[in-house]
This record gives sequence, structure tokens and C-alpha cells, in this order.
Amino acid sequence: MGVVSTSSTSTILDAVRLMETSNLSDVIFQNEEGHAIFTIADLMSFRESKRDFETRLCDISVLQLEYVDGEENVLNLMPKLDQSSSRYFGVVDAEQKLIGVVSTTDVMGSVDPVLMMERKKLSEILSKRHIEIVGRSARTEDVLSLLTNVEDAVLVSERGVLFGILTTKDAIRLIKNGMDTSVPIERYMSSPVSTISREMTVKAAIEYLKENKFKRAIVVYEDGLYDGVVTQRELISATYGRWSELLKMHAHELGELVNVLESENERLNKDSLTDTLTGIANRRRFNQLIESEIGRFYRQGMKPFSVLILDIDFFKRINDQHGHLTGDKVLRGLAKLVSEMLRVSDEICRWGGEEFAIILPTASLQNAAVLADRIRIAIAEAKLEGLDVTVSIGAAEYARGESMEDLMKRADQALYSAKQGGRNRVVAAE
Ligand code: GH3
Ligand code: MG
Ligand code: MG
Repeated sequence: MGVVSTSSTSTILDAVRLMETSNLSDVIFQNEEGHAIFTIADLMSFRESKRDFETRLCDISVLQLEYVDGEENVLNLMPKLDQSSSRYFGVVDAEQKLIGVVSTTDVMGSVDPVLMMERKKLSEILSKRHIEIVGRSARTEDVLSLLTNVEDAVLVSERGVLFGILTTKDAIRLIKNGMDTSVPIERYMSSPVSTISREMTVKAAIEYLKENKFKRAIVVYEDGLYDGVVTQRELISATYGRWSELLKMHAHELGELVNVLESENERLNKDSLTDTLTGIANRRRFNQLIESEIGRFYRQGMKPFSVLILDIDFFKRINDQHGHLTGDKVLRGLAKLVSEMLRVSDEICRWGGEEFAIILPTASLQNAAVLADRIRIAIAEAKLEGLDVTVSIGAAEYARGESMEDLMKRADQALYSAKQGGRNRVVAAE
């Protein structure tokens, strides 16, 4: 797991000792908010701060451990780990008690076949697969009869000590050359036997087989005594088999995960262009639209288009007198009201706090001013949230050669004039 825990009264020094004796890079300890992690990186920055090593762990600023439910599916953890700033999650039971810690490596290792191959030891997958084992004095003739298919081999061993091996290839050569098969197998077996340790990883074992062009690996304990045999096919199915099993088992969740990721992606894309309070376009979206409108202007024979900037009059008072929530409702109501008055090709956006901008493709300044006045009156009559809400509006028509910024600036100046002129009115820019 790579993590050890220590109590809240422990000091940095205790943590460092623990790191040293357990050879681990992270220490988990309890604090007021739950559990926190003290990492090597924390230790390094602590050292730089030249503070006393007797400082208590809970008195320094470290990363708080995020928790996951012990019942949580591994697959769901992956996006969480991606988002988290930590490499670890605290695993809690139904009573929210910390029962363990899971790391990025744990999660990935349990789902990624490549990592799995690197992490899995032969001892974990070794099946006591049937392989014939005979003594050194067994008659060659009898040994040959044990070989029934090309994958087979016979091991020559006594009390776990390996003396040799006879593969089908050896057998074929022997038969082909008309050798005497009445003698002990000892005479023909290949010796010594190439073996690998049961501590070897699946990945290393696969490489070993490939390098030596072996069909199987003889696996031994540390002391060289015989443990078992694994074939290439078994090695691969041990990893990919589990992987595909996992895929099958979690096909449903995986499908869901993909859906979640897709909708999340969609949401992020949409969010970045939408105003959260009102649900209408935001300024970013508006800028995109205006740019494409300017492009269209030049492509399509410079047909006019206009913009409006609308600002609620004395909105601060509404907030002050009726509260921010009412203010928010007014903003939402106004966005909805104006949206409904627009054509589909028109677009309204939240320009700023209580300011809205509207783009009117194909509208001349005069058309824009007329629509603006209708909007102004509709709002004044709407009694949003039962209040007398009025707006001031500045209108501007796009002038050939001007930039988006210039256009919006002119509309804003017109709005300013409307405010100066007494509010609840529309002013069209020159
Ligand atoms: P004016 O007629 O000159 O436009 O006066 P005003 O009070 O509308 O203008 P001012 O710019 O002084 O105040 C705007 C207020 O809008 C201040 C700010 O707190 C409020 N506001 C901005 N965004 C929001 C929001 O999302 N919700 C609410 N409730 N209020 C907001
Ligand atoms: Mg304002
Ligand atoms: Mg205002």
C-alpha cells in the first residue's frame, strides 16, 4: 500500500522515522478534518522552511485525504484519481471508518493488463498444471509414451530437485535417429533445466519465453526446488483473461462510465459558453457569434447587423431592498422575457452582472432601435418579481471596417447616454 499511519500527536520527526524504517514515501495521520497525508514532497518543503522537526504534524499544512466508499467500483475511481491532487484515497466502510488506503497504482494495476503483467508474480498465477515427472532411472521408452501432444514435456526430478527435461522435440529427434529407448531417460534428457523464480513477474516470464523460444517455463522456489510449470498461453491468458473477464463483468459499468465521461465532456463544452444563472449564452459565446457575424457581413454583401447593450436601472437598489436572491430572479426573468421576444437568429447573452448584449443579424440601426424600445416597454410592464424594473439600452449598427471591440464600445457609449438622459430609454449610436 505504501502508506503508514501515525497519530495526531506525532511530530514531523516521528513521521520521518516511520518513513525511514518502513521505507515508505507517505505517512497518513489523523487531524481534525479527518486524515491527511504527509509526503516526501512535504518533507522537503518543510526542511526548507527550517522549522523545528518537533513540530506536530497537525500543525502543518498538508493535503487532506479524500474518501471513497469501500464498495465503490474500481472503474469509478479512475476519473476521481485523475481529478484529485492526491495519489491516494482513503477507503471507508459504511460507518465512514477508514479501512484502508488505495493508490493510483493500486487502481491502475487492477485494471490495466500491461501494469498487471508487471505487477503480478508467477506464484500468484501458477497452476499446478499437469506435467509428467519421472525419476532419473525411468526407461526412455516409458517416458516417450507419456508425451501425447506437442505441448508436452517430461521433467526428470527427484524430491523436487530437477535433473533434466525431455521435450517433444527431443523425443522426435530421438525416434528419428533410431536411438536405443530401453536405456534410462538420464541419457537423453536435456540438462541442466533452465528455470525461473516464482517471484518473477508475468511480464518478465513472457519475455523469458520469447527470448529462449521456450513453450513453457519451469518455475522453481528460491532454493531451486521445483514448483510448477507455466506455458506462454497460460501467462497471457492470466493477464488478458482477467482483463477480458473484468471487461465482461463490468461491461455495464464501463458503458456507464463512457456515458458519464461523454456527458461530462459535453457539459464542460456547454458550460464554457453558457451563463449558469440565466442559462443564456455568456460573453465568450457572444464574442464568437459576433466574430462570425462580422465574417458573414463581408461575405454576404455587407448586409447590416446591429447589437444592443441593455443594463438594468438601479439594480443595486433591487438587491439592497429585496435581497440578492430576488435580484437573481429578476435577472433570470428578464433573460427569459427578452429571449422570447427575439427571433431564432437573434442571440442574447449575459454581458456582465446586470447587463445583457443582443446580436441582431440583418437589423439596421433603425430596426434595432425599434426592437430595443419594444423590449424596454415589455420589461417595464412585466413587473418582474412584482417590481418596477426598467432598463436602459444602447444600440449600434456594425460599421464597415470596425472591430468587434469598437462596435461594442459604441453600443456601450450609447447605453451611457441613455443612463445620462434619465434611464428607461433607448439611445442609438451615431
Ligand atoms: P445603473 O442604473 O446606473 O445601472 O445602476 P445600477 O445599480 O444598476 O448599477 P451598478 O453597476 O451600480 O450595480 C449593479 C449591481 O448588480 C451591483 C451588483 O451587486 C449587482 N449584480 C451583479 N451581478 C449580479 C447577480 O448575478 N445577481 C444579483 N442579484 N446581483 C448582481
Ligand atoms: Mg451595470
Ligand atoms: Mg445597472
